[in-house]
Amino acid sequence: MNKPENYLIATSTIPEILAELHSQYQTLKDGVVANYIPELAKVNPDFFSICITTVDGQTYEVGDFQQLFTIQSISKVFVYGLALEDHGRDYVLTRVGVEPTGDAFNAIILDEQSKRPYNPMVNAGAIATTSLIKGKGATERLNRVLEMYKKYIGRDVFVDISVFTSERSTGHRNRATAHLMLNFGMIEQNIEESLDLYFQQCSAMVTCRDLSVMAATLANKGINPITQERAIDNRYIKDILSVMYTCGMYNFAGEWAYKIGIPAKSGVSGGIIAVVPGKMGIGVFSPLLDVRGNSIRGVKVCEELSQRLRLHLFDCVGI
Ligand code: GLU
Repeated sequence: MNKPENYLIATSTIPEILAELHSQYQTLKDGVVANYIPELAKVNPDFFSICITTVDGQTYEVGDFQQLFTIQSISKVFVYGLALEDHGRDYVLTRVGVEPTGDAFNAIILDEQSKRPYNPMVNAGAIATTSLIKGKGATERLNRVLEMYKKYIGRDVFVDISVFTSERSTGHRNRATAHLMLNFGMIEQNIEESLDLYFQQCSAMVTCRDLSVMAATLANKGINPITQERAIDNRYIKDILSVMYTCGMYNFAGEWAYKIGIPAKSGVSGGIIAVVPGKMGIGVFSPLLDVRGNSIRGVKVCEELSQRLRLHLFDCVGI
């Protein structure tokens, strides 16, 4: 929803707001770190950072913004974009729906009628999306995903091998989900290769600063605002942001859309990205999670940012 020209975010206030929110929520120790992937349980629960990158390439950062962590489910946003570029919207829609589930991210369910996974932001849909990534064999497909990340971030990206192998050896639910989709012809035969690629895309290492630049790239019609490189064809931005808006925050997506009102995606390592179209990208990292898998500090920070910077897409009070 467009706000009039005179509606401008006072960027001069951003550094103070970030510093304030960081010190306010640093003392909040609620939640637990993800432990179903053994390697993720080793993270320092105190890590906390908030970053904003504007579409004109300014970055504001506070806390542990250079700390690397695995991107986890936030990867689903970007791999969905790559699948759209590889196959086009119509074909991708035959394989993955766009309906919110209200269920947990790792639920083993498909749409009763179409047999499609519900949407690309839950595990089933993301595994189906990953299986669509083109390339001759595992290495070429992985390289394409890493190249894609590089465009969004502006530097080389690597996979954390310990997290990848930890996830591969314990990811039985994801394997079961892939087999269910294979049974219904929703993914192709080489499911082990696609599962490996899915685990690798989740194990790519990013910083909170990177998250804000990735989000800002989506906010900036697909062009990285720092390197000026195009990361994604702008015709797919609205597809990506729509599913982020309705499905990005696990089974909290409805409440998030209602209260915070901007497209977002979280991951079990504690990252959140939020996109304010035409204005900025937000990244928050704090590994302490609530029962749904969202970073507790991350949700609080985004809620405050939305209120203080008037970011809710449908906020028209006083306009
Ligand atoms: N790699 C994780 C999994 O498939 C991603 C989960 C998440 O961040 O939601 O379980």
